[in-house]
Amino acid sequence: MIKISLIGCTGSIGKQTAEIVRKHKEEFCFTALACGRNAEGLTALCSEFRPSVADCKTEDVSLPSGVKKAQSTEELFTDCDVALIAAGGFEGLSYTLSAIRAGKKVALANKESLVCGGEIVLAEAKKYGVELVPVDSEHSAIFQALSFRRDTAFSKLVLTASGGPFLHCSKEQIARVTAKDALKHPTWSMGAKITIDSATLLNKGYEIIEAKWLYGAEYSQIEAVVHPESIVHSLVYFADGAAVAQLGYPDMRVPIQLALTYPQRLACCEFLDLEKIGVLHFERLPKEKFPCFALALGAGEAGGTCPTVLNGAAEIAVRAFLEGRISFPQIAETIEDALNRIPKEAADSYGSLADADRLARDTARKFIYG
Ligand code: MG
Repeated sequence: MIKISLIGCTGSIGKQTAEIVRKHKEEFCFTALACGRNAEGLTALCSEFRPSVADCKTEDVSLPSGVKKAQSTEELFTDCDVALIAAGGFEGLSYTLSAIRAGKKVALANKESLVCGGEIVLAEAKKYGVELVPVDSEHSAIFQALSFRRDTAFSKLVLTASGGPFLHCSKEQIARVTAKDALKHPTWSMGAKITIDSATLLNKGYEIIEAKWLYGAEYSQIEAVVHPESIVHSLVYFADGAAVAQLGYPDMRVPIQLALTYPQRLACCEFLDLEKIGVLHFERLPKEKFPCFALALGAGEAGGTCPTVLNGAAEIAVRAFLEGRISFPQIAETIEDALNRIPKEAADSYGSLADADRLARDTARKFIYG
């Protein structure tokens, strides 16, 4: 029985994790469940799965008897085999660090933990002898292509990208898109923030930064290619010219489940029907139409607190875009302004990252609301 502490249980990844646990009751159980503000969702999950502890950011949450409200973040990780961090945004980083310090294996679905905190997350994981397992489909594909071995030598990592809903739109068309248009992802079903990040290609930039930290790659060794069908989830190129890819239908339950059970595999979703799929397409990523991609790569290469500034500004900008307050191109403008204004600092402590995050949010709010 694998005991799971699930942080972010009411979000998209959280719900799919619950589905997996529901399907394989003899393999998995939840010992802790936590969410942001969806108290009702948390109560329902607690009634069904009966974890020992639960937590929610809202004060008035009614938990079923036998489920204790966590008194601290640490308490969420005292009794688990794996901590699945699926909370969204910069907030996820503090949970990742807590889980690592509790000595628990971390299944990482929160991108910001590595994008913003790659340096300290890796250092802490090493110090506590903790393993980080990717949940993101691209990084899971790479992990599989490397046969779950991080010491395998490779030449290049190629992340596939669906290209989002605006791949073939002109710059002029992209300038006029609404939140409703941007929320229509062609292949994956995900939360609102990441769906917008997929439309701006900020998400692909994040994934390159994550790949750098997870696999110790240089930025020059990581590329992204558009693959509209989202069947090939990523590839690893080796010195002899061989490339190993992982294929499957776009279904997050596969990488979530594998992060919990690997190297074992359990039944999860249907087999690919190659004859039905027919042709797969690959094309160049049109970077010039999506400035967020270059901004993310630039911040990743600059290092220090730059990715945290990028992310803090992006979180404010995406929310403003979803609320109809700014246009789609203004997401990139907001991020660029924050990166230009805020000087880079060392990213060697959580405190310096939290300061950079706060400053980036303030700067972005000023840029948007004056
Ligand atoms: Mg992904």
